[in-house]
Amino acid sequence: MRRPVIAGNWKMYKAIGEAVEFVEQLRPLVAQCLHCDVVVAPPFTALAAVNAAARGSNIAVSAQNCHWDQEGAHTGDVSPQMLVDAGCSYVIIGHSERRHDHGETDDQVNRKVKAALAAGLVPIVCVGETLAEREDRNTRGVLHRQFRGGSAGLTAAEFSRIIVAYEPCWAIGTGRTASPEMASESHACLRQLASECFGRVVASGLRILYGGSVKPENIGGLMAQEEIDGALVGGASLKVDSFSAIVNYPRGMEAGASTS
Ligand code: PEP
Repeated sequence: MRRPVIAGNWKMYKAIGEAVEFVEQLRPLVAQCLHCDVVVAPPFTALAAVNAAARGSNIAVSAQNCHWDQEGAHTGDVSPQMLVDAGCSYVIIGHSERRHDHGETDDQVNRKVKAALAAGLVPIVCVGETLAEREDRNTRGVLHRQFRGGSAGLTAAEFSRIIVAYEPCWAIGTGRTASPEMASESHACLRQLASECFGRVVASGLRILYGGSVKPENIGGLMAQEEIDGALVGGASLKVDSFSAIVNYPRGMEAGASTS
């Protein structure tokens, strides 16, 4: 049984006060939530305050990016150790907005993953094809390249601590969601890759989240897929009502839920 994860990526939204207010309102709405891990990823400026507001709750804090060095002359960057210091237990790595807007490469993703693991963080490693790549029937090729590049050199023990998020770029922030079957096919491809690289047992424990226009209306259908172990949510994670509805998705049909 893989324990689902519902993670909200707030991107460059919410000042400190808004972020704290969000967590205060979210706490009671997810307090009874035993079926999944709940994660919010505020901007760097709000990490410490959100961590303080979430203390004693079942809400974990993630950063949206990190550098691979512990410290150094890297203006504007934040190290994994600094994220731990601010109360993070997760970090999103290789989001498509980092890959496309900042030219982040698979090699850099790999260095960040290793550094995050060394600092004790759980990396949420994003992969996914563009629309052009899908239309060129190259989705598998892209997933192969990003998966192998991002996880190169990890031991099976290290790999077993990471989470992968399949986020087709054409579904991010567009309102266009991959159908549950389409997402499931890519997740199965990623699990197969994990099996080839790290063995069947490790692959069967790998949590693969889907991301791309997830909302309360479609989370049930996505979570009903055996291959989908949770969601990385952008826009719909910015409002307490929609995020808590996603966390408390309709259950009973999904294969990945665990109550322990
Ligand atoms: C994301 O930013 O990771 C994302 C999936 O965004 P949205 O849910 O808005 O498509």
